Amino acid sequence: MNRTLYGNLIFELSKKGRKGYSLPQDYDRTHTTAELPAALRRKEAARLPECDELTVVRHYTNLSHNNFGVNDGFYPLGSCTMKYNPVINEEIAGMKAFAGLHPLQPAVTCQGALEVYYNLQESLAELAGLKEFTLNPCAGAHGELTGLMVIRAYHESRKDAARTKVLIPDSAHGTNPASAAVCGLEVVEVKSLADGTVDVEHLRELLNEMGSEVAAMMMTNPNTLGIFEPRVLEITELVHKAGGLMYYDGANLNALLGECRPGDMGFDVMHINLHKTFSTPHGGGGPGSGPVGVREGLEQFLPTPRVKKVVVNYDIPEDGPTEWEGFIVDWGTDSSLGSIGNFFGNFGVMLKAYAYILSLGSENIKKVGPLATLNANYIKESLKGEYLLPIKGLCKHEVVFDGLVDKTTGVTTMDVAKRLLDYGYHAPTIYFPLLFHESLMIEPTENESKETIDAFIAVMRKIAEEAKTDPELVKTAPHNTPIGRVDDVLAAKQPVTTYWKSLEV
Ligand SMILES: *Cc1c(COP(=O)(O)O)cnc(C)c1O
Repeated sequence: MNRTLYGNLIFELSKKGRKGYSLPQDYDRTHTTAELPAALRRKEAARLPECDELTVVRHYTNLSHNNFGVNDGFYPLGSCTMKYNPVINEEIAGMKAFAGLHPLQPAVTCQGALEVYYNLQESLAELAGLKEFTLNPCAGAHGELTGLMVIRAYHESRKDAARTKVLIPDSAHGTNPASAAVCGLEVVEVKSLADGTVDVEHLRELLNEMGSEVAAMMMTNPNTLGIFEPRVLEITELVHKAGGLMYYDGANLNALLGECRPGDMGFDVMHINLHKTFSTPHGGGGPGSGPVGVREGLEQFLPTPRVKKVVVNYDIPEDGPTEWEGFIVDWGTDSSLGSIGNFFGNFGVMLKAYAYILSLGSENIKKVGPLATLNANYIKESLKGEYLLPIKGLCKHEVVFDGLVDKTTGVTTMDVAKRLLDYGYHAPTIYFPLLFHESLMIEPTENESKETIDAFIAVMRKIAEEAKTDPELVKTAPHNTPIGRVDDVLAAKQPVTTYWKSLEV
């Protein structure tokens, strides 16, 4: 990109009086502002950039080339399941008939959309092995909060409200304890063993000590290290015996999709990140969708609105049938949590998820988990000579290394991640999970070809070699990106997000 010509900011390209439009000579400008009350009118002109159209188009086109997404290249961001989103999903979500809907329009006028909504609820219940789903929550963390609220409502309905503790493994994603705290529950940490799995003996001790106060245990499986919890059935049984419920954080469901179901593992409540496992692109703040599923006996607590299938009687057709199977919106029963957000949630994400499920079909969807697992293990076995593998066994959909094997070079995980940018790759997740000092967490997803993965492995090996032969090169990377290393702390603590502000600092 030619920065001198196209500039970093559109304001830098502004030339006084330059425009990208022309109006007829006799165009009457007076009415545009004259109708506004004087108090609402600007005292001075807005400080907007003044540019011709071609300059604007080139500026934003060039900026867009600085973006990196799954459609640009390999994006192995562990814990995020940045999987490819097939184009047909976007086309369906963008259809006018769906995009133009209003959440308050009468159910009779949007039966098709409600049918999609209902069918997705049913498909997720089948994939999860649970009774019913609500699609209302807008993200994974929002689903966690909703699920915990369901669990609270369940205990309260049984006059067992003293259950205020939530057991969470120390390897859990940060949203788990955060959601429990927001729900007014107290977090109790369960230790992990050296291999990253739950320390069942510690769990037993905790349950002996405070079993009658435990509302739930939250777990993800495979866990945050990508390891399947071998004693999951024992864990769910122990917690149930103590009267608590099991919450499944479904962010890692991609590893198991089609292979095994949280309901069958003994979980009572779960969320699914549609924007991870079911292909919506994410990052940068949304939109997301975190449907929550529950076991039979908990469905009455789910939030409203609910979409239900019934035999309905709409007095619409003059001579047609007055009764047929249709879909209604149920705004609630006394036991329901009520509304937890914006009506039905992010419908566009649900359309993509449903299109994704239908286009894979029941046979191909069973290959998602196994192929994601195969790809991660192929990377693990290929790189364990150069990168330190703290947990040796089979991983699921992602693999965690603890930096380079050779610690004498001084090259850190941060340096490796930055050097990957020079080679055109998105960096893996780094310094998470917190169990290791130099975590480097790679999640390839099921969609990548062997050629893509082999090319990535070759680059990772090359960087390990560079760390030995020319460590400075790696430590000062990236060298080929529009900007070099940013000061992470400054960027997080003092972000400058507006142009005029940036002039003042
Ligand atoms: C991504 C993730 C979450 C949170 O999901 P959001 O949709 O980002 O709120 C929770 N747990 C795990 C393990 C995750 O990877």
